[in-house]
Amino acid sequence: MSVPSPAFRARIRQGLSDAVLQEALQRATRSFQISREKAFADLPDAEAVRDRARAIRAHTIAHLDRYLEQFAREVERHGGKVFWAATAQEACDYILGLARARGISLVAKSKSMVSEEIGLNAALEAAGIRVVETDLGEFIIQLAGERPSHIITPAIHKRREDVSQLFQKHLGMPPTDEIPAMTAAARQALRQVFLDARMGISGVNFGIAETGTLVLVTNEGNGRMVTTLPPIHVALMGIERVVPTWEDAEILLRVLARSATGQALTAYTSFLTGPRRPKEPDGPEELHVVLVDNGRSRWLGTPLEEALYCIRCGACLNACPVYQAIGGHAYGSVYPGPIGSIVTPMLGEGAGAELAYASSLCGACQEICPVRIAIPDLLIRWRQMEASRLLPAWERAALWAYARIARHPAAWARLGRWAMALLRRLGRGGWLRWGPGPLRAWTAIRDLPVPQRPAFREWWASRGGGVP
Ligand code: SF4
Repeated sequence: MSVPSPAFRARIRQGLSDAVLQEALQRATRSFQISREKAFADLPDAEAVRDRARAIRAHTIAHLDRYLEQFAREVERHGGKVFWAATAQEACDYILGLARARGISLVAKSKSMVSEEIGLNAALEAAGIRVVETDLGEFIIQLAGERPSHIITPAIHKRREDVSQLFQKHLGMPPTDEIPAMTAAARQALRQVFLDARMGISGVNFGIAETGTLVLVTNEGNGRMVTTLPPIHVALMGIERVVPTWEDAEILLRVLARSATGQALTAYTSFLTGPRRPKEPDGPEELHVVLVDNGRSRWLGTPLEEALYCIRCGACLNACPVYQAIGGHAYGSVYPGPIGSIVTPMLGEGAGAELAYASSLCGACQEICPVRIAIPDLLIRWRQMEASRLLPAWERAALWAYARIARHPAAWARLGRWAMALLRRLGRGGWLRWGPGPLRAWTAIRDLPVPQRPAFREWWASRGGGVP
């Protein structure tokens, strides 16, 4: 069995050798964690709110069909149109067909990880439709021709010098290290896009079933521009993002912003119900909600269903020592970090299950997760599935033999004596620096201390103990 693959190993090595990346990641993730701790400290009964948030997610996912149908009915009752996309292809085809039918040449987009997941930008651009990301982080990433490296802060790996160089090249801006100046330049460039775009595409943080309301959480005004200025608004929503009631949405909002950015509430929390009504001053003429399954429903009723509780706050990425060291791009997937390592193979029919090995299983992700997803357990499940898929015959035989011997203390003790004798023979100066066969994978990156004398069993026996 060979996990991770050579390609994944190469990406890991690249991330580990990039000192600038590691510094940027550690600074940003640490700062997020401090803000999060403060924000939760200010929330009365924070642990009870987290319990409630988890209960809401568990209940919703257990009754997903019912709440999705109610949500779709309500969206349509308020004048919106709902499209059920079973696959990424169906979602892209629908939006592309809509854009073609309406003669769209420019699309303004606000942040949507689902759009990354289904490859929407590439599909639209291949058809000659220009797509402009209007979230500042996504805008930077788009100019750089990269993919996001964090689900909340897509350009977390970029330093201000990197952004300045990109803006010099693409926006003709003079060199600067002033963040407000760069923000102003981006705002200037995007202003015309908002005015010219005839279609706006957004993600959806939550869809409230009882009224068909879309909830969007952003820290920049771009989300509101995208959903109100263009005459057509397309909202892309993963099917798991539905919540039954406004009260439930309010509980989830309490933990989402605190976990994501350490804010009690983000600067903009928008609630959109249907397209513009006759006497309203703004809003789109058409609202299309694309409900994306793309493999999610396959996992309902399985032990991995719990991953669908995720509200994409990104806190588990910030807490993960592996993510902090290798960065989001090393995962090679749309969704990086601990939850990405579970969700990626779920959406890819098992492809990418090797990501489950990019974890020390320290549990920091589960501890910080606002909806208490048992991330380490789910990672272990993927490891089990991957192991049973990839395990070669000799390893199966070895594990079978191990299971037999481990059940017999005398045989186990004899095997232990042989193994210790062998290790002492191979060791030099008290350390084993080169091991034969499978041991080489260990000794290639760390030394193994040679077993000392007396062994525990010998010491125990010398004190008159029985077989331990
Ligand atoms: S798994 Fe939990 S911590 Fe990670 S993104 Fe999802 S909700 Fe946030």
